[in-house]
Amino acid sequence: MFPTVDFKICGQICGLFVTITILIFFVCQKKLNIKSELNFLRTLITATITCALDVVSVFFNTLIPQAQISILLSKLYLITMLVYLTSVILYIAGDTLNKKKYNIIFWVWTILGILATTAISFAEIRIVDVYTQGVATYIEYSVAVAVVVFVSIFTVRHRNQMYGDKETVIYIWMASWLLFALIQFFFPKLLLVSFAVAFGVMVIYIKLESIDNIIDRETGLFNWNSYLKYVNDMKLQGQKGSVIYLKPNDTLKKADEKVLRASYKMFNDAIRKRNDIIAFSIRNEYLFVMKKDNLNEIKTFLSEGKRFFPVGADAYSAFYLNNVERIDNEEDLEPLVSYVESKYAESDSAFIPIEEEMIASYYSISDIEEMIKQAVENDSVVVYYQPIYSVKEKKFTSAEALVRILNEEGKLIPPYKFIPIAEKTGQINVLGRIVFEKVCSFIQANDMDDLGLRHINVNLSGTQLSDEDLAETYIQIMGKYEIDPQFIHLEITESANVEQNKTLKKNLDRFLNYGVVFALDDYGTGYSNLNYVVEMPVVTIKFDKQMTDSYFSDAKAKRVMEYSIKMFKSMGLNVVIEGVESKEQLEGLSDMNVEYIQGYYFSEPVNPVSFVNFLREKNG
Ligand code: C2E
Ligand code: MG
Ligand code: MG
Repeated sequence: MFPTVDFKICGQICGLFVTITILIFFVCQKKLNIKSELNFLRTLITATITCALDVVSVFFNTLIPQAQISILLSKLYLITMLVYLTSVILYIAGDTLNKKKYNIIFWVWTILGILATTAISFAEIRIVDVYTQGVATYIEYSVAVAVVVFVSIFTVRHRNQMYGDKETVIYIWMASWLLFALIQFFFPKLLLVSFAVAFGVMVIYIKLESIDNIIDRETGLFNWNSYLKYVNDMKLQGQKGSVIYLKPNDTLKKADEKVLRASYKMFNDAIRKRNDIIAFSIRNEYLFVMKKDNLNEIKTFLSEGKRFFPVGADAYSAFYLNNVERIDNEEDLEPLVSYVESKYAESDSAFIPIEEEMIASYYSISDIEEMIKQAVENDSVVVYYQPIYSVKEKKFTSAEALVRILNEEGKLIPPYKFIPIAEKTGQINVLGRIVFEKVCSFIQANDMDDLGLRHINVNLSGTQLSDEDLAETYIQIMGKYEIDPQFIHLEITESANVEQNKTLKKNLDRFLNYGVVFALDDYGTGYSNLNYVVEMPVVTIKFDKQMTDSYFSDAKAKRVMEYSIKMFKSMGLNVVIEGVESKEQLEGLSDMNVEYIQGYYFSEPVNPVSFVNFLREKNG
């Protein structure tokens, strides 16, 4: 008798051991005291009882198959399984839906559960061998199928509200149910249901609820996952709160390791004693969530905390945000804080509010940063060319290379949207290199003389000129494509202050020695310091569109422009007028004897193929 029992319930016993072990681990581990933990605990307890009752009922069914007690235990087992299934739904819905919607789900499934329980209590159940059969089991199967269908549809519909791996875990869970059901169907003697129950909770525990998922190993504090869970819970419960990010100051970072460890321990102990503050460790920095939005209380807490640290009051800068849901990506936190810090560079306050507008502007910057990164990786940085007309020669003798990004939707993004950000993030260096390489490749692929071109102008930002390797890299690229340096003119702006920046000067000299010359771009914007302009090692001055526009609208500006053009010409410099859009403008400029003109009147910047076609047609 015993060997048969052993064989038939070994799956159940394994399942029971698994659930009991997880239950013990879960009960003993540190908790956030949020609803999803309670929901998981309920699922775990009902799973354990289900497995236990399965073992007991099979045992009784084997010993005294048709006895009242065996029938009763079998029904009880079916009923606890119902409760387990309902707990599963509540666990899944609990941290996804807000209070109101959750309550609806709660009541619908509780009532369904009560109805099914009542039906099972009165329904017929038969015990054949040790297996239960009859109407009661069919009701049970129907509820199980309904739960699986409901959970699957629910997960697909609400996947965007689920954090971390939750969606995947639910799919694994449901797939395992299906697999076990199939096995059970083909091998009815295996009795796998309890094992399937245990397997389900095990997957959730390992992937979502175990200590490794919620605690930072190094500090023993809650980790980013826990932060998301906690904040999600606050949101669903409609609770407000604030987040404080502590950024250690340089003096603290340099403090003795041992002393620091002791300080942190004291600090953590102090936090643990309070139930209105919870500490998270995010990439080795502290993040607190306080369930109240009381600034004074936070300040008092922080100043009390600082006394644990060797450097006292200067230990930390605290960044304060009164919207706990605002940051949902761990990687954003540090750069956002640095961004905010840079905005407050003037203030030496140790308590810095993170304003909503700052977060918004930070995110729009980081979106563009990401777009540039993608464009560089996917080779979707493109170069357009705008021809420059020589009035004397009556043909197009040069052109300006202008960068664009082809985004994922196939739209061309103009440079004003990304160049200023690329300059801030340093991405301008790689962008510039790509542009330069594309220009060299264009020159190599085309016969410049044949096209009537003397050179192509490439823009350089001030930041690029401060890159130590700029000249060397560009010269290498020219070597690779065997480009005669006279085909390249580099456009720089006045803001590139030659005197004050040694690297910049070195770059300029290296280029000049190699035979690459410069043009001064954007002349007439900002503060033009004539004296300074004269000192720049350039062969061409490019008048900005702003200047061209004011030439036609403002008599004073017109005179300034006339005289400066005269002066530049007398110095042997070439002058290019940018932004000429109409025939009238072109004619209006003719008294000044301007040599070169660039503008929409002749052509907008166009792609390389159209550019070559344009030149073939116009230059003949
Ligand atoms: P920029 O160097 O002054 O280039 C001239 C800009 O004026 C171009 O704008 C051009 O399309 C525009 N433009 C030319 N003629 C007309 C006209 O008749 N009417 C109007 N409304 N606009 C005209 P784009 O291509 O949008 O470039 C803007 C700026 O972005 C450039 O100003 C340059 O400072 C920067 N940039 C473009 N490509 C690069 C690059 O590869 N590297 C760097 N560092 N900066 C670049
Ligand atoms: Mg330019
Ligand atoms: Mg310009």
